[in-house]
Amino acid sequence: MDTEPRGGADLATIATFDDGRVGIERVELSPRKAGEVDLTVLAAAVCGSDLHTVLGHRPAPPRTALGHEGVGVVRDADPGARDLRGTPLRAGDRAVFALYAACGTCDRCASGLAMKCRSVLKYGHESVDREPRATGTLADRVRLLPGVPVLRVPDGHEDTLVVSAGCAVATAAEIVAAAGPEAAGRDVLVVGAGAVGAYCVAMFAGMGCRVAVREVSEERLALAESLGGHPDPGGGGGPYPVAVEASGHPDAFLGALNAVDVGGRLVAAGSVSPGATAVTLDPALLVTRRISVVGVHNYTLESFVRGVDWLLEHGGGLGLERLLSPPVPLPEITDGFELMRRGAYARVLVRP
Ligand SMILES: [Zn+2]
Ligand SMILES: [Zn+2]
Repeated sequence: MDTEPRGGADLATIATFDDGRVGIERVELSPRKAGEVDLTVLAAAVCGSDLHTVLGHRPAPPRTALGHEGVGVVRDADPGARDLRGTPLRAGDRAVFALYAACGTCDRCASGLAMKCRSVLKYGHESVDREPRATGTLADRVRLLPGVPVLRVPDGHEDTLVVSAGCAVATAAEIVAAAGPEAAGRDVLVVGAGAVGAYCVAMFAGMGCRVAVREVSEERLALAESLGGHPDPGGGGGPYPVAVEASGHPDAFLGALNAVDVGGRLVAAGSVSPGATAVTLDPALLVTRRISVVGVHNYTLESFVRGVDWLLEHGGGLGLERLLSPPVPLPEITDGFELMRRGAYARVLVRP
């Protein structure tokens, strides 16, 4: 894409959401600051939360730079820049990145909740008016602040394998971590087999778990079965020592909770829009059955690394690209959101 300085300006092409509409903007970037990493986007994916934004289900600033899943190639970085593993990051290297920039020093960062940092910047949810402006992956450029976790992607892996590393894959790794090491080898219920649920199925199956899946879409259920899951018998299997709610459907939380065995754990990750999925809950259900409920929203740096490690080690032969639509060119991003809204694909793949 044409993003070279033109008349002194350094321009990025970014899909934005403004005044109820998705559009494409040419945005002038400031000179890159020390510690920032500039990437040229190779591939990006529209996530369900991007769809929530453009459907007005969550607050969004004017001129929101859309998209937080993507893979890019380093265009410009400090000499000596390194990724989370200490691998040098040089121009031409491919990289994936987490969807947040954290300060690293506040009480939340100090307690392992960097994704909820007091001064967090969330990629895909900030205005192009806010520095560093290029904070959406549905773009030809993205600029990573110094607090953004980055991992270099070795050669030999397709862009489509790693494109969802920064959201669905890392979130699934966080869910698996929240389920606890005692989940290995046991029965697990996964409710909802969108991208996050599908990655959970594959990760749990890889840990020797028997993974039951509740999913209304036959296509998604079939995909989850191919990743090692099996249908929850009549939707009434169990009880399960571990259940994961990854659908975000209002009924799914209680359904999953009711399927958890005495002493078990429910990892709730699907409901991300406060107010949209309210349920009536009798706390006695939790108390008398000694059930733990853990909420997971986004992920730690450690889960990001574990998720990418899992992808690179185990993801290659699983056909995970079936979670993606055929590629949609960035200028046709409104078609991409329409495709996402119709729900035929867990993710819509976008190429700049
Ligand atoms: Zn912080
Ligand atoms: Zn996402």
